[in-house]
Amino acid sequence: MKALDELTFDNRFARLGDAFSTHVLPEPLDEPRLVVASKAAMALLDLDPAVAETSVFAELFGGHKLWAEAEPRAMVYSGHQFGGYTPQLGDGRGLLLGEVYNQAGEHWDLHLKGAGMTPYSRMGDGRAVLRSSIREFLASEALHALGIPSSRALCVIGSSTPVWREKQERGAMVLRLAQSHIRFGHFEYFYYTKKPEQQAELAEHVLNLHYPECREQPEPYLAMFREIVERNAEMIAKWQAYGFCHGVMNTDNMSILGITFDFGPFAFLDDFDAHFICNHSDHEGRYSFSNQVPIGQWNLSALAQALTPFISVDALKEALGLYLPFYQAHYLDLMRRRLGLTTAEDDDQKLVESVLKLMQNSGVDYTLFFRRLGDESAELAVKRLRDDFVDLAGFDAWAEQYKARVARDGDYTQEQRRERMHAVNPLYILRNYLAQNAIAAAEAGDYSEVRRLNEVLSKPFEEQAGMEQYAQRPPDWGKHLEISCSS
Ligand code: AMP
Ligand code: MG
Repeated sequence: MKALDELTFDNRFARLGDAFSTHVLPEPLDEPRLVVASKAAMALLDLDPAVAETSVFAELFGGHKLWAEAEPRAMVYSGHQFGGYTPQLGDGRGLLLGEVYNQAGEHWDLHLKGAGMTPYSRMGDGRAVLRSSIREFLASEALHALGIPSSRALCVIGSSTPVWREKQERGAMVLRLAQSHIRFGHFEYFYYTKKPEQQAELAEHVLNLHYPECREQPEPYLAMFREIVERNAEMIAKWQAYGFCHGVMNTDNMSILGITFDFGPFAFLDDFDAHFICNHSDHEGRYSFSNQVPIGQWNLSALAQALTPFISVDALKEALGLYLPFYQAHYLDLMRRRLGLTTAEDDDQKLVESVLKLMQNSGVDYTLFFRRLGDESAELAVKRLRDDFVDLAGFDAWAEQYKARVARDGDYTQEQRRERMHAVNPLYILRNYLAQNAIAAAEAGDYSEVRRLNEVLSKPFEEQAGMEQYAQRPPDWGKHLEISCSS
């Protein structure tokens, strides 16, 4: 375990120099205080969880203090937003404080979001509000606990600093951890500004630090792109399998590591709805739940375009062609496991599709359906779940197919079935209304609910005593919450 002043820095991105980022100091928040810290994320930095309660912790992550070895930088990037190219974006309110490496030899970027204005702030104030900081914190850690690749969050620091959005709110900072903060948009920036030397430097940096095994391949850049395609396909397969809607899949929000990144008006599905749009400013549904799959490929094509100086167009096209098969294989594998199946049959895809269609028509809770399916034998579970469906004949037909499929799958006890299914079917997910309750309490100065929710969501597959209220469908008021896009 380390004390706060014992972190070891090695700021490799900062060393790339001023073409890639600009030195900016954090602008402190007034009266910084700990809202919540993640024990699991503290462990990534070998930090003793107790240090989160110290005043120096709130000062460090509230922008008042800095380690001598930290080199705070605002990164430049661009990106396609809602399909159109924006030539310059960049860290408008976040700073890469530096890279810390832990005892296991892993490097983690410390990125402080809400740290004040930078040369990339455009019209913004450089700040983040408490509400959106809590949402990003909870989502990062909840996704990780579900096994979905994501940036992580160390803590949220609250303050008395006024910040104006639709109304006056309070400023906060969230400390994000990721092994890299490089986005598709970084490559696009150097491609569209026609800076081939810097673009090559960036590509070498990513290859050396994050895809060293690709060096062994005859065409290292192509091997790296293939790997990025596969990782993104796998991440999106997991989003779809667990009902996560990102909401703002612009290429500046896509990580070259294939991790969930930059949380905005995201949501987990309550009732299953393939057409769900969580971002209320997304009028055309570009980033609707089911569109996340083709948009993943669209985004990878935008990255491919930026890589044309290094890789032939034919090879890029071929690599992009791997996206859908990778996606389908990962998705189907996970959905089979969610249904409790251990073997593969040709018609499994149809079995999945037909139950989703039935759930869609009846507004069935996506998370609880799978959890309850594993509570009992297939026979008993479908009998109990039947009541939730409007199209009873349709459900009965599916249930017959499912029972027959389970019978062909293998001979195992109900104990084994439950254990296997509960290990992939969470009981607790970050429902919007749960986040909303925690935010309302935090805005009134009570942080206990955010902390409790984070604890519950850190073990989503484990039934926890006295936590039944976190495993319920939303009450009426919590069903269709409008999550503000301002953050
Ligand atoms: P986002 O929608 O959070 O992914 O942000 C898109 C771009 O706007 C990024 O370049 C952000 O850094 C920038 N941005 C968002 N909010 C603010 C803000 N309050 N102040 C300055 N820049 C911001
Ligand atoms: Mg962003």
